[in-house]
Amino acid sequence: MVRKIILSCVLTLNLVASGHIMQEFEWPSGKTLLSFLEDAGISLSLYYDLEATDKELAAEIVAGTKCEILLDSESKMDQILIPITEDLQIHIYKEDEENYALTFAPTIYNEGNFSLGIEIENSPYLDINKATGNGSLSAAFSRAFSNNVDFRKLQKGDNLALYYTQKERLGKPYGDPIIHAGMIEENGKSKYIYYFDSKYYDEKGKVSETLLFTLPVPGARVSSKFSPKRFHPVLKRYRAHLGTDYAAKKGTPIKAIGEGTVIFVGKKGGYGNTVEVQHKNGYKSLYAHVNNYAKGLKKGKKVRQGEVIAYVGNTGLSTGPHLHLGLYKNNKAIDFEKAVKVAKEVIEFGKEEKKRFQDYIKAQNEKLQAAMGGYHNPPKFVAIDNFIEF
Ligand SMILES: [Zn+2]
Repeated sequence: MVRKIILSCVLTLNLVASGHIMQEFEWPSGKTLLSFLEDAGISLSLYYDLEATDKELAAEIVAGTKCEILLDSESKMDQILIPITEDLQIHIYKEDEENYALTFAPTIYNEGNFSLGIEIENSPYLDINKATGNGSLSAAFSRAFSNNVDFRKLQKGDNLALYYTQKERLGKPYGDPIIHAGMIEENGKSKYIYYFDSKYYDEKGKVSETLLFTLPVPGARVSSKFSPKRFHPVLKRYRAHLGTDYAAKKGTPIKAIGEGTVIFVGKKGGYGNTVEVQHKNGYKSLYAHVNNYAKGLKKGKKVRQGEVIAYVGNTGLSTGPHLHLGLYKNNKAIDFEKAVKVAKEVIEFGKEEKKRFQDYIKAQNEKLQAAMGGYHNPPKFVAIDNFIEF
């Protein structure tokens, strides 16, 4: 796989010299992989031959995603990279004069841990952006503190510090940073957040978000677990499953995992008939392959936790009836089973857990102190346009 990509890079460089053009292509709203192939005049078997889980993955392409496309001298597509997640992309390329091939390829990026400690001059958002040129970091910092701090109360001269992991690709910050620990002074008084077991806590171990989810089909067996990008050693290719599958009989009621607003009802590529619900704190749930929708369900409708929104089916797929449940936090797929478990653990924050948490925040505080003491190393990003690669 890796060899093939390197090969195609080398090939591409030669092709560029012979009149090929690279373009950035924004994935249009409502477009599916199938309709893309159709429009491009590429054999639809490329889609139909995909396994069911890969068809699901193809339905994850987000409208507005920037794809890199290489056109030949006759403006025909030579190859395209379509990002699905931060780690995985679809690579469609010409195999020979007439045929295209499709693979799931890993996205290449660098990753590092960084510290930043600054005095507030305007606002945390503007000041972090000024120091790092990284808008995603500013947004992540504001989000992490949004439940604990009143940003209007901040004074000029208050300090903030953070310790985080950031990916970098093609000289730009890539994907969402993870803020492991953050400190901000609110009128001279320090407030902290810590990212621990996939959730943000304050210094007292109180979780800063209290959204509790319930199961969509109580009692149903999990037939396929969530898995981020991983290399399948037997198939020798990359795979991912960005949700949890629950096996259930056709027609079994599906319940909303939390209260929220319906933001999508309709067909969504390999997901078939799909419902999406927006919840508080940047969470979104997705219910796929449903047979039919609850009466009166439409975009904009408010739903309660546990309210029946649809019924189990097998639309969009040829395998047996099941519910594919996706959970997203700020548009990034996360493991629903873990989110449910974490919520439960918060209620029963045990003795051992508490000790582990205290050890963790001690280590993080040292990082924050170092940042405030002048040790910081954030990479400063400067926008570069028209810089694309294959
Ligand atoms: Zn699934």
